[in-house]
Amino acid sequence: MIVVLGSASMDLTTYVAVAPALGETVMGREFRTVPGGKGANQAIAAARAGGSVAMIGAVGDDSFGEPVRRTLAESGVDVAGLRTVPGPTGTAHIVVDDDGGNSIVVVPSANATITGTEEGDAERIAAADFLLLQLEAPMAAAIAGAEVARANGTKVVLTPAPTQDLPDALLSNVDIIVPNEHEARALSGVDDLDKTIEWLLDRVPVAVVTLGEQGCLYAARGEEQVRVPAFAVTAVDTTAAGDTFVGALAVALGEAKPVVEALTWASAAAALAVQRPGASSSMPERAEIEALVAGEEEGRR
Ligand code: AMP
Repeated sequence: MIVVLGSASMDLTTYVAVAPALGETVMGREFRTVPGGKGANQAIAAARAGGSVAMIGAVGDDSFGEPVRRTLAESGVDVAGLRTVPGPTGTAHIVVDDDGGNSIVVVPSANATITGTEEGDAERIAAADFLLLQLEAPMAAAIAGAEVARANGTKVVLTPAPTQDLPDALLSNVDIIVPNEHEARALSGVDDLDKTIEWLLDRVPVAVVTLGEQGCLYAARGEEQVRVPAFAVTAVDTTAAGDTFVGALAVALGEAKPVVEALTWASAAAALAVQRPGASSSMPERAEIEALVAGEEEGRR
């Protein structure tokens, strides 16, 4: 079982040719509201990939809360640990340009009320194989969740985004850290990728650095690094590529797939997601991931 402790938000996404610079106004082409938030994204990705998933988090009692909850539930996520609190649901204000690149402003709102210590939270975490954490919920909640996980043998997978300083109280309880290249460099404060990985492995036993269309890099203490290429696809919207990768990775590791196979699986899920717009709306079902992986193996023969 996979438990996700983190944000559940409404993504307010605008599609433009070129994103506006500071002080500039541009005309957009299209506007969509799609449930997102890094926590909910990882939960939905894992559930669609075939995992048994429960979410710990909070939505507001506004008009966004219910559709966010419903999307999680309809994807098969157990939402008993998703509280509804007074006030607005978290929002992400996203601009996607014609190259598929994005820039995002996140407003936490209900996500700021997450503690990780509500009734039932500790039991859920203790019963899970993996706890997935990101940093759109309060740091104190992530630390509380990670401590319960460590005490109960639940493996902690941290996506260190949005980037911020990581206290030892969190890092010391993380088993796998999955930053993208920019997050990894920002955390370590060094530019060189090898040095960045060294920095990560000084703190966490396993690091998986995602490199966008360059694929991903797996590094574990005392092991050879493994590089897995991305699938060759045309990206239209990379929103939640990393979250889809992490959700699918947790499912694959939970099924005891070997490392390269698990990374290939996660890459396939992310490659499917970047070909479709939106966060939750872009995440593939298990059968699609399996078909893409099988096609790739066929191609290599
Ligand atoms: P990122 O967060 O951009 O590093 O992306 C996470 C993962 O999504 C990568 O490791 C790739 O597996 C996948 N991915 C991202 N962008 C692309 C792309 N343009 N084409 C194929 N896969 C991608």
